[in-house]
Amino acid sequence: LVSREMHPHDTVVRFGKANIGGGGFAVIAGPCAVETEERLRDSAKAVASAGAIAIRAGAYKPRSSPYSFQGHGPEGLATLRKIGDELGLPVVTEVMDTADVDAVAESADMLQVGARNMQNFSLLKALGKVRKPVLLKRGLAAKVEDLLLAAEYLLAAGNEQVILCERGIRTFETVTRNTLDLNAVAYMKQKTHLPVVVDPSHGTGVRDLVVPMSLAAAACGADGLLVEVHENPVEAWSDGAQSLYPHQFEALMAGLQPVLAAV
Ligand code: PEP
Ligand code: MN
Repeated sequence: LVSREMHPHDTVVRFGKANIGGGGFAVIAGPCAVETEERLRDSAKAVASAGAIAIRAGAYKPRSSPYSFQGHGPEGLATLRKIGDELGLPVVTEVMDTADVDAVAESADMLQVGARNMQNFSLLKALGKVRKPVLLKRGLAAKVEDLLLAAEYLLAAGNEQVILCERGIRTFETVTRNTLDLNAVAYMKQKTHLPVVVDPSHGTGVRDLVVPMSLAAAACGADGLLVEVHENPVEAWSDGAQSLYPHQFEALMAGLQPVLAAV
């Protein structure tokens, strides 16, 4: 079902007033996590005024350590909804557990499956029944084929509004947090009809590499970006080192224009 052979036209995913896929370039941005309402509002206003089409922020956070901030859960969802409504922008947030699917689907406009859950097949089956789009992130050690098969679960269960996200994979390389695999983007654009977005924040783990890799993503045919931006990254509760300052995000949005005009 995910293959272009079965479905030659690009799938267009409807997200608020925006479309993702089928031409155009959609930038979704915001902090890693919902922290306080004030901070989320400041970060969200900054990305909205720079041209982001949607806000991202996690209420349920899949942290490597159980002692790290785990997210505010249901209160975080409500805060994110409130800020999205204030700014008139759709919101995307991660759902980690099948038990939370209904609650997340009720307050968010798009549900994110995190890298660590890409092969949580019960979660994928549950999301296949939801009438909201799903942003499916590539697993840390997943082959492209594994990602496409994970997407197949969603389509087979009845949800065709699926976006694939390349967010870097584990390799022997350690100078960056992950290795962003742009081969996968060009490959998936040829083989599937689903929109493909790139997350250069988790893909590099390094703030100063996010802008160049975003431009590279635009150049290789991605349909959009998922970027972490924080009003004050040095104080972020998670992923501050890879979060852009608002002024860097503004520069990124301007820098994308000539690249997109050329492709
Ligand atoms: C995130 O988007 O903040 C996140 C946890 O991403 P990933 O699942 O790609 O690590
Ligand atoms: Mn993050």
